[in-house]
This record gives sequence, C-alpha cells and structure tokens, in this order.
Amino acid sequence: KRGKQPSTQEFIDGILKGSIPLLSRAITLVESTNTRHQKKANEILEACLPYANKSVRIGITGVPGVGKSTFIEAYGKFLTGKGRKVAVLAVDPSSSVNKGSILGDKTRMEQLVTDQNAFIRPSPSGTSLGGVAQKTRESIILCEAAGFDTIIIETVGVGQSETMVHSMVDFFLLLKIAGAGDELQGIKRGIIEMADAIVINKADGENVKNTKIAKVEFNRALHLYPPKESGWQPKVITASALKNKGIEDVQEIVDEYIQFTQENGFFESKRSQQNKFWLLSTIEQNLRDSFFKNNEINLVLTKEFENIQNGTSTPFSSAKKLLDLYNEKNQKR
Ligand code: GDP
Repeated sequence: KRGKQPSTQEFIDGILKGSIPLLSRAITLVESTNTRHQKKANEILEACLPYANKSVRIGITGVPGVGKSTFIEAYGKFLTGKGRKVAVLAVDPSSSVNKGSILGDKTRMEQLVTDQNAFIRPSPSGTSLGGVAQKTRESIILCEAAGFDTIIIETVGVGQSETMVHSMVDFFLLLKIAGAGDELQGIKRGIIEMADAIVINKADGENVKNTKIAKVEFNRALHLYPPKESGWQPKVITASALKNKGIEDVQEIVDEYIQFTQENGFFESKRSQQNKFWLLSTIEQNLRDSFFKNNEINLVLTKEFENIQNGTSTPFSSAKKLLDLYNEKNQKR
C-alpha cells in the first residue's frame, strides 16, 4: 500500500524537480476515474502547464513484431547517451480488453527501464480511444514539466489510434519491415500520409538486400502523394534496432525536421491546431459522457428506441425530446 497521498503542492514541486515517483503518481491521478483525483490532477496540470511545451514529441507506430520496443529501446538509449531525457508513453486502445498488450510488460525495454534519464509508462486503460488519448495528452504535459525533452508515444495500428497519436506529436514515424516485394500491400490508407519518416527495420543479415529494395519502393510511393502541409518531404531509411544500426540517421532526420518546421512556422502552427483539436475533443467527450452516463436519459432513450421501432416517433423528434430533457436537467443543477 502506498502511504499518504502527497498534497497538490507537493506533487507540483516534486514534478518540477524531476521526481519520477511523483510524476508517476500524478499520471495515475490523471488516469483515475475518481472525481476527487481528477480535480487534483487538473490542479497539478494547470500548475505544470507553463513548464511544458519544451520538448520534441515523436509518435512511433507499426504492426506488432515490427520491432517497436526494440527500436524505442535503441533510440532511447542513444538519446539518453547524448544527455537527453526520454519519456515513453503508449496509446493502446486494446489495453482495456487485453490488459497492457503494449508496454504493459516492462521487460520489453530492459535497458531503458533502468536508465535514470528515461521514463516508461504503459497505456492508460479506458473504454474509448478518445479517453485513452486524452489521458496520454495530459501525461505529456506532466512529463515535459518534469524535464523530459523527448516524448515518444508508441502505438499499435489498431482502429484510429494512429490518428489520435498523430494529433499529439510533432513528428510521426512509421516502422516497417521489408516484405516479399509488395511493400505497400496491407498498409492502412492514410498512414503513409501521416508519416514524416518511414524506417524499414531489421536491416541486418540476409535481410539487408530486401530492405534496400523496400526503401526504393517506399520512396517512389511517397513521391506520388501530394506535398505535405508542412512542406516536408518524408524520408525513408533502413535501420536495425537489434544491431543498433541507423539509429543516428533517425535522429538526424528528426533534428532536420524540427529545424525545417520551426523555420517555416509549421511547428508552432501545428501545435496550436492540436491544442484546438484537444479543446474541442475534450468538450465533445465530456458532453457525450454526461449525456450517456445519465440514468434518466438512458431510461428515456430505451423507451424512445421502442417508440421509433413501433412507428410512434421519428429519430429526430426522439432526439429532440432527449436533448430537451438533458438541457432541462442541466438548468436545474
Ligand atoms: P514490437 O511488437 O513492434 O514491439 O516488436 P519487438 O521490438 O518486440 O520485436 C519483435 C521481434 O523482432 C523480436 O524478436 C526482436 O528481437 C526482433 N527484432 C526487432 N528489431 C530487430 C532488428 O532490427 N533486426 C532483427 N533481426 N530482429 C529484430
């Protein structure tokens, strides 16, 4: 059992001093569904906000087995070796069903886990991807306030998780492996458009030749897409996370991208667009929750379903009735 809960001020002071235990416990508050915890989490977040924003946020995606954790470990170690502080967070919408399917098992990044300058956090669980993503978005703020200058957000390509992660990072990296030649087969639509770099992993041993072919093919494919809003031409490189090859090249590309987008103003404008997105999506989420979690609304909703079924109401008049009821209830509060 954990001792007494630190005060809000103790949390804030601790996080700003870079205390990992307090950062970790604050994230637990962020993830909590308890109203009291949420209130405290919001106070901590608010105090931390002025100290956030000073990091590079990198999203990493790829199918299971492509080498995400091996890559993040190699990349993370490379960064901490350069004196950087790296936080790794995960967004895994399946973790509520299949508890912690990515990053749940900390043994996946054995070296990074014990690194003083690294912080690894498994995916929050939650019923909706929006909820999971929102908690991760808030955790980023806490990690930045605690002095982490590189935030890596890992996700598996489940549902819309990549889109969510894309909306909270500066740089988006797609991890691939060379296949049987038909490289673009089976890639989800939209994912290529999101990628700022494609890293073809497992470029080692007998696989080196295939990865080179894949690189050519991806490069050709990328040129068929319309230019990105950032003006950045996505890069394709090969790497071996296992053999620690190509990791430095990845960092060069990230640095180049950051410099490029800071100079043309895209970096700032993207972050401000993202803030707008998170404001709106948080409102939507909360409105939806307060509507659908209401018992009375749910009772009437069930009844209105029946009315629609037996033709005594239309979806539109039922919706109006329900919304009127909701508004009426809120006015009374
Ligand atoms: P994840 O599911 O995407 O996180 O993938 P993992 O990092 O767990 O890696 C899946 C498997 O691929 C493991 O057996 C790794 O050892 C292996 N692997 C990862 N990176 C490389 C690499 O660069 N080269 C080779 N040959 N194997 C790798």
